Amino acid sequence: MPTELQFTRRGFLWVSVGALAGACGTRREGAGSSDATTATHDGTVLCGPPTGADIEGPYYLAGSLETGTLGPGMLTLRGAVMDARCQPLPGAMVDVWQADEAGAYADDHYRAKQRAGADGGYQFQTTKPGNYLNGAQYRPAHIHLKASAPGFRPLTTQLYFPEDPYNGIDPWFEAARLVFMESSSVARFDVVLAPV
Ligand code: FE
Repeated sequence: MPTELQFTRRGFLWVSVGALAGACGTRREGAGSSDATTATHDGTVLCGPPTGADIEGPYYLAGSLETGTLGPGMLTLRGAVMDARCQPLPGAMVDVWQADEAGAYADDHYRAKQRAGADGGYQFQTTKPGNYLNGAQYRPAHIHLKASAPGFRPLTTQLYFPEDPYNGIDPWFEAARLVFMESSSVARFDVVLAPV
């Protein structure tokens, strides 16, 4: 189940929590996890533990274009980068890469990076990635994501989709990394970074 929590903080967003790790490909990958948390005993809302780190997998390429479009498709991936107290991190870099709908990676497709806006928000137009074989087993659909900001530890993680038939058998899948589907075509995931 998704671990996103919804609450209002100065008109601010959905706070998910989770992040974590994973990777893909015929080469190997690792994993991590975290839990959603809301601490309220002193009135302070926490966004949960920082999103966990993991290996980037075999298909990352540095130097992606700064753009909000990964490639053709009807899926919007959006969210915010914030610290554990839900404060947005304007200017944080978000770098994403994924397979296409057929589950194939290409050097010049579905890769892009973007700086978070004043509210910490990011948004990419893309397509839902397809499943692909990793050894003898299919991986669930996922989007790779890196996030970084001055004063915070760089993060590498993977985001998953609800109801993927391979979520339950994937060794790297964790529910905390599920995107929240705001609609059939809008996926949300908020990233929590840890301070250096
Ligand atoms: Fe992958």
